[in-house]
Amino acid sequence: MPTFEQARRLILENVAPLETERVELLEGVDRVLAEDLAAPWNMPLCDNSAMDGYAVRAADCQATARLQITGFVPAGSLAAAALAPGCAIKVMTGAPIPAGCDTVVPLEDANERDGYVQIAGPASGNQNIRFTGEDIRCGEVIVASGTVLRPPEISALASCGKSTVLVYRRPQVAILSTGDELIEVGQPPVQGKVVDSNGISLAAAVRECGAIPVILGIARDDHASHIEKMTLGLRADVFVTSAGVSVGERDLVREVLASLGVKQIFYGVDMRPGAPTFFGLKDRTPVFCLPGNPVASMIVFEEFVRPALLKMLGHRRVLKPFRRAILQDPVRKKPGKIRILRVRLEFIEGQWLAYSAGEQSTGRLKTMLAANGLALLPADQTVFSPGDEIDVHLLSPETV
Ligand code: AMP
Ligand code: MG
Repeated sequence: MPTFEQARRLILENVAPLETERVELLEGVDRVLAEDLAAPWNMPLCDNSAMDGYAVRAADCQATARLQITGFVPAGSLAAAALAPGCAIKVMTGAPIPAGCDTVVPLEDANERDGYVQIAGPASGNQNIRFTGEDIRCGEVIVASGTVLRPPEISALASCGKSTVLVYRRPQVAILSTGDELIEVGQPPVQGKVVDSNGISLAAAVRECGAIPVILGIARDDHASHIEKMTLGLRADVFVTSAGVSVGERDLVREVLASLGVKQIFYGVDMRPGAPTFFGLKDRTPVFCLPGNPVASMIVFEEFVRPALLKMLGHRRVLKPFRRAILQDPVRKKPGKIRILRVRLEFIEGQWLAYSAGEQSTGRLKTMLAANGLALLPADQTVFSPGDEIDVHLLSPETV
């Protein structure tokens, strides 16, 4: 049985970024760039004014100067004719700097009257001018392949004249719930039945990663139903099932997947919760079978499925960020297995503190609702005391 780390390594070794596709620029948000972006021209393209003011020669303004205004260049116009000595050209922010000018005196530092401007010198050169290529040089790679596209990268692409962008394709992730006890979301409660919450919660998690969920619904605990739904699931880029993966009499998931040609990479992981997890491949399609328990399935998704999806999406950083935090509650666990504890992280006086998010049985959905982190308690340690340092994965950074 692999350890937690070995299992994750096996998963990541067996998935690869999908092929690339070209999309409209705005569709590129949160996607991963699949080519280097080199600036096709200098930015700024020409020297231009950083202020509304008067473009002058600094040499003409060493003392108080009265200069004749010989031109006006609003933003968006071509540069005026070259500046003659003893003159000034009125320029607005963004306007190209006329030849012969070497500085811009802001409007508020000058007095204009009857076609002349009075400037209280001395003025120094190279003021209030944005010089050609000072931000970005023609040919410079400004966004490298593998970068996640946020608004600044979208801005850079647009500034380079791109209206489309080459990104990695998003995987379609088929999601199948299994079990005779399941009823569909929205059905009234019935004794002995359970609402299929896994289907929708896994779909939500898939979407949060940036992949595309395809909910296949419920396979009943018989071969025909499993074969029908699983045949569909194996046509997706990734196939995720929940429940029916233990050793119960009606747990058919592994048997039916094997009959459909899925090769097992591992079954069972030294972790709690999430021990009965299966990972396999149908050709190159990864297949994840998660435990039925809603909390366990969410945790296994976070730790195993998410990194795989992020890798397929082209991300270079696929593991959730860690915080080194100080445990606030005592915890005891059995040796030999990593324990994943749902915690509430708080940042107090310069330190991350990790509080237990509640009763830790996997039956407690409420503890998952209260948690914003998953603490990974090492396999070999059994007693954890308040004050111990632990590693915590962030569940969603914006809630911390
Ligand atoms: P199993 O792995 O099939 O033994 O299921 C373990 C537990 O998870 C049982 O209590 C199931 O009722 C519950 N469960 C299984 N599938 C789902 C699901 N899709 N949504 C919510 N709970 C589920
Ligand atoms: Mg079952």
